Amino acid sequence: MSNITLPCTACGTLNRVDSELLSPEQAGRVHCGKCKAEVIADQPVIGTDANFSREVEQYGLPVLVDFWAPWCGPCRMIAPVLDELAQELRGQIKIVKVNVDENPGLSNRFSIRSIPTMKLFRGTSELDTIAGALPKAALKARLLGLI
Ligand SMILES: [Zn+2]
Repeated sequence: MSNITLPCTACGTLNRVDSELLSPEQAGRVHCGKCKAEVIADQPVIGTDANFSREVEQYGLPVLVDFWAPWCGPCRMIAPVLDELAQELRGQIKIVKVNVDENPGLSNRFSIRSIPTMKLFRGTSELDTIAGALPKAALKARLLGLI
């Protein structure tokens, strides 16, 4: 048995979570020790310049960050794919969406020049960068091959 640390999106508390609970079936049972919110989201989480450190860099699981904007057609096309993957990969990979127009700090820091751009992080390490939209099956296979 091993534990990982997952910050609570709702209140910021760091929760120690048994890694055996990290399956899509079990993940919904993991609640924050302080505020009782679910710690492992089944939908994309909104990332911002302000919360990126907690939601991505301190999160104890790999995180796929989608850099997007509402005016971007391909971004809107992959949005439902990311919604589905957030459920199917719950407990394995968290999905965070960053609106580049509202978060210039992150766009500059990661040199986002076209969208959609997706980056897979483990802590502060970038494992992969995916430029442009991919079909769901291809995206899922690529992610699972990296974690
Ligand atoms: Zn909490």
